[in-house]
Amino acid sequence: MRIVLLGPPGSGKGTQSQRLMERLGIPQISSGDLLRSAVARGTELGRQAKGAMDGGRLVEDSLVLQMIRERLGEPDTPGGFILDGFPRTLAQAEALERLLRALGQPLDAVVQLEVDSAELVRRISGRRCCADCGRVFNLFTSPRTAVESELCPKTGAPHRLTQRPDDNEATVAERLRVYEEKTRPLIDFYRARGLLRVIDATGDVDEVSRRLTQALGAPAAPRAPRRAPAATRVRAAKRRRASASARVRRSGRTARRVRAARPSGRRVRGRTAAKPKAAAKVRSRVASGKTRRPARGGRGRIREKRR
Ligand code: ADP
Repeated sequence: MRIVLLGPPGSGKGTQSQRLMERLGIPQISSGDLLRSAVARGTELGRQAKGAMDGGRLVEDSLVLQMIRERLGEPDTPGGFILDGFPRTLAQAEALERLLRALGQPLDAVVQLEVDSAELVRRISGRRCCADCGRVFNLFTSPRTAVESELCPKTGAPHRLTQRPDDNEATVAERLRVYEEKTRPLIDFYRARGLLRVIDATGDVDEVSRRLTQALGAPAAPRAPRRAPAATRVRAAKRRRASASARVRRSGRTARRVRAARPSGRRVRGRTAAKPKAAAKVRSRVASGKTRRPARGGRGRIREKRR
């Protein structure tokens, strides 16, 4: 399966994609991890990305795209992958769509993890990561035993817990603001493509994993009708106005044509004029004495009877 996990910082994308990776046997591709690794190795990409990351801003689209393109070209991806933290802007989402279309490997599902902002801040401040294996823990929500006594699969020693440099209060506020501005629009982007599933990502981690598994097996959220771009909407409104006034002009012409077609001097008024045959029939019955001529006002018969 080819999956994107969408959600604000701290919504659990990393934790859930690690679990999903183990369950489905497909790689997790975390743009944040790739960038952090580039920074740690001191590569050119890392050098260029570091400033934005430290400030809680997004790294330039072109850099991230190049990095993801290379990662998706590796031999472990044809069986599927979980994208975590990418795409994060509409430009990235569109570029990913083009890239996967070219590879003949379109996305199967996009899952949006929903968590309210107070909970996000709490989670981020308690987040710790093993410096060796990268496993993510949370001082507030992970079971104490897992944090303290589990051994790191890489070193065989207890996990070496570290806090990410960008998990500080000021940077977190900026990351949440950037998410609202740049990443939230992707929800509509993927809903319009019939790929979106939304889950409640609060509560127990196992429970969220269950919801995620269920969402991946369930049909996507209904497609929202796609809104045409503003310029197209303006053109369509102009066309509607133009055809409405053309209808008005046509109906004016029709009325003039009808008036012109009437014999001159003859005014069409009331029902009698519309049914000349019926009027002639009444006149001939009166003449032959079969019917008495009604008095003016239509009450002639009654008056005649009284007389
Ligand atoms: P989180 O989701 O908790 O903010 P990540 O590990 O996904 O953390 O990302 C850490 C930082 O790496 C981001 O704040 C940003 O600076 C950078 N980054 C990660 N992914 C992207 C991306 N797709 N586009 C731009 N910048 C990114």
